[in-house]
Amino acid sequence: MKKQGFTTRSLNVPYSKTDPHKSLQMPLYEAVAFEFDSAEQIEANFRGEYAAHVYSRSSSPTVEYFELKLKALTQSHAVLAVSSGMAAISDTILAITKSGENIIAGHQLFGHTYALFTQTLVEFGLAVRLSKLKQPEEIEKLIDEKTRAIYFETVTNPQLEIADIEMLAQIARKHNLMLIADSTLTPPNVFRAGKWGVNIEVVSVTKHISGGTGFGGVIIDHGNFNWKLNPNFSKYTEKFGANAFIAKLRKNIYRNTGGSMAPQTAKFMIQGLDILELRVEKCYKNCLALGQFLKSHPKVKTVDYPGLKDDSGFKLTEKYFNGIPGTIMSFDLESKAACFQFMNRLKIIRRATNLNDNKSLIIHPYSTIYAEFPEEKRREAGIRDTMMRLSVGIENVEDLIADLDNALA
Ligand SMILES: *Cc1c(COP(=O)(O)O)cnc(C)c1O
Repeated sequence: MKKQGFTTRSLNVPYSKTDPHKSLQMPLYEAVAFEFDSAEQIEANFRGEYAAHVYSRSSSPTVEYFELKLKALTQSHAVLAVSSGMAAISDTILAITKSGENIIAGHQLFGHTYALFTQTLVEFGLAVRLSKLKQPEEIEKLIDEKTRAIYFETVTNPQLEIADIEMLAQIARKHNLMLIADSTLTPPNVFRAGKWGVNIEVVSVTKHISGGTGFGGVIIDHGNFNWKLNPNFSKYTEKFGANAFIAKLRKNIYRNTGGSMAPQTAKFMIQGLDILELRVEKCYKNCLALGQFLKSHPKVKTVDYPGLKDDSGFKLTEKYFNGIPGTIMSFDLESKAACFQFMNRLKIIRRATNLNDNKSLIIHPYSTIYAEFPEEKRREAGIRDTMMRLSVGIENVEDLIADLDNALA
């Protein structure tokens, strides 16, 4: 049979156990602990010989179903759901490194990832070496025997730069390093990370997957890295083989740091996945229409959206993301004052900091997300005081265009 489409598959992922009531929706198990039939059974569970949920910080049925769905949809080896995108990133880095080691990351990063990498982790003896990802020689110069991974974001925000993923995968393989992608901006219906040599994907499901309805993160293991190449997994490769990474998370880092996803949140995420493709397609169509409208408006100086044919990122967008480079764009007016006046006149598009909400959201990154950065760092990061970031939602496109038109008048 021909491979089914994303939404059909999402709606038909089987539960791990038959529901006694044959519920068509995965029930919400708001349970803390789970019971065993006998002392022998609970002993077998703790020995690893009888799989069952025990305590919801480690695993629970509704969260497990969200993981199963995402595993099927990404055709990956294993998925772990956690409490936020930042928990997915920090758990992953803590699992693959120890004090004295380093990773290499793209220099354009989500703000709190940048803060984690340049402030928090440094205090624990981990170094994150930042590099321009478009320059393979620069990346290779930073690699040494203590390097454990190359980390990048599929589309950077708000710069909207797209890395050449195949090139990064080649460098990672050549040096026996893992390749980690933060693919938050390019959801699994447009980007197949495993196909391009990404080993681990970290995602803030707070964004596209929830559509702004809940907070969470996921770690996706594509099953294509030999864990024996990383000495921090030696204890786990012996016992768990190809499951070394996920076992180290579940039995150590994730369990012991406690950043688990709440069952109620998993329920939102399950619904989010079922209608992800519909929402992303709508946002993308809106994005194209708004991008073209803004481009043709005399008060708009520049428009950046790699989904537009004349954008410098369009080729990579077609290659890696099926033409859909997420649904965020940025554009410039002539001054900061003009941006503020414009934002204050908007009636449908909301002034808020989230991304990929079902609602369209706008922000002036220079005065908010990057406010704590010195001028020079902002310039380096390509953050202009004339620029706004627009995250396009699923509203009716004529209403969004009317809102922009009115605010620009
Ligand atoms: C939002 C975001 C994160 C962090 O996710 P949270 O769910 O807010 O913790 C990480 N990376 C990117 C690219 C993001 O947009």
